[in-house]
Amino acid sequence: MTRKHYRGPLVDVTDERALCIHSTECVRGMPAVFDTGRRPWIDPTAADTPDLAEQLREVVARCPSGALQISEHPADH
Ligand code: SF4
Repeated sequence: MTRKHYRGPLVDVTDERALCIHSTECVRGMPAVFDTGRRPWIDPTAADTPDLAEQLREVVARCPSGALQISEHPADH
């Protein structure tokens, strides 16, 4: 299995396609980020404000298969 990493300005998304059960929670929840008609189909750059990043976290948390995961950026020191 291969988990792919998609970088965003506030949070990143990782995706393991082999796990996806195609429930479409992601594309219905945040179509600006998840668009299966586009390559790459995940574009976290659309979540470019704290509110949108939080929405992205919530949508990813609803992924029933575990295919999608959030990868938080390291905190600045
Ligand atoms: S929410 Fe998860 S399981 Fe559903 S289509 Fe998206 S990646 Fe696949």
